[in-house]
Amino acid sequence: MMMNAHGNRVKQTTNEADTSFYTTTWQDGWQQIKVPVPFSLKWVNSYLIPEQAGYTIIDPGLRTDEAINVWTAVLQQNGLQWGDISRVILTHQHPDHYGLAGYVQERSGAPVYITRSAHDYAIRLWGEKSGFSHQLQSLYEEHGMPLQEREAIADNLETFVAMVTPQPQVHYFEAGEQLQLGGLSWRLIDAPGHANGQLCFYQPERKWMICGDQVLPHITPNVSVVPWEDSDPLADFLHSLLVLKEYEVALAYPGHRDPFTDFHGRINELLQHHASRLDKMAAMLSKEPRTAYGMCEALFGKRLNGNAHQLRFAMSETIAHLVHLERKGRAASSVIEGARFYSAAVASDLEIPEA
Ligand SMILES: [Zn+2]
Ligand SMILES: [Zn+2]
Repeated sequence: MMMNAHGNRVKQTTNEADTSFYTTTWQDGWQQIKVPVPFSLKWVNSYLIPEQAGYTIIDPGLRTDEAINVWTAVLQQNGLQWGDISRVILTHQHPDHYGLAGYVQERSGAPVYITRSAHDYAIRLWGEKSGFSHQLQSLYEEHGMPLQEREAIADNLETFVAMVTPQPQVHYFEAGEQLQLGGLSWRLIDAPGHANGQLCFYQPERKWMICGDQVLPHITPNVSVVPWEDSDPLADFLHSLLVLKEYEVALAYPGHRDPFTDFHGRINELLQHHASRLDKMAAMLSKEPRTAYGMCEALFGKRLNGNAHQLRFAMSETIAHLVHLERKGRAASSVIEGARFYSAAVASDLEIPEA
């Protein structure tokens, strides 16, 4: 999931007889299924991939009635039953990708694969003893968000529980391993920053990259701080983009929007976007100190419009950028009356290298 300033919701007019709006067939009989999601991203891409026996599904989607209707129609159109699904592969743990996995597993008996750290995160978010909402509340309180907004976000998070239920039983696979998929051998690549534990999958002969939400056309992948981690996710994300840029890619299969060819060009745009955003924020801080919430309002204010879902992404993204500025020595922060204020770093003779 990520901030998205573009587009409207997908038209929820599932016609069970005609899935042409929702499916596009690619080489090797791969089907891209646009599984609707009830927010501005419109859809998540699932890929239905024929195997020697059965089919693999990559990222089945979010558990909603609309998503299940689309899948029911797609299976019917292909003359398939749930039992023909032999495996579910998850690029990462975000609910729009992971949410329907347990439902598919219940009906198909298919094994579900995810990395251990992505799964740990999913359990921290949606497990029975999840303290995520509380941890996020404290983080946002420290960063200056008023109580009313925090409560709206907690309520919005609550609505996701049903959309990721039941949770799947999972098998682990990890970066560095090889995976057989659609009769070809794929390399699993660690792709952190948008979601820790996320994998991209690379096929060297075809030069295909399945890139989850790490590189998306037209959409800037969200980069969020994780409440329980003392980390710099934006640094992880930017580094991951540089790693991915080393691969020669003819066709990229993203988690949202459509497969695209200019993988390197898109990576350059994303790198440029974050460099400009960081410069803009540093310039704003040189005028006046701000909390992350104040910065978030200044950057995204009009677009958020009381949308708790969007506010959560915007807020976590803003904190991630401020944390990065501070780690790079371009900002400093201190807590004043319970809220953390960021200011431009005091100029000094100390040279801080840009890693
Ligand atoms: Zn995601
Ligand atoms: Zn997504």
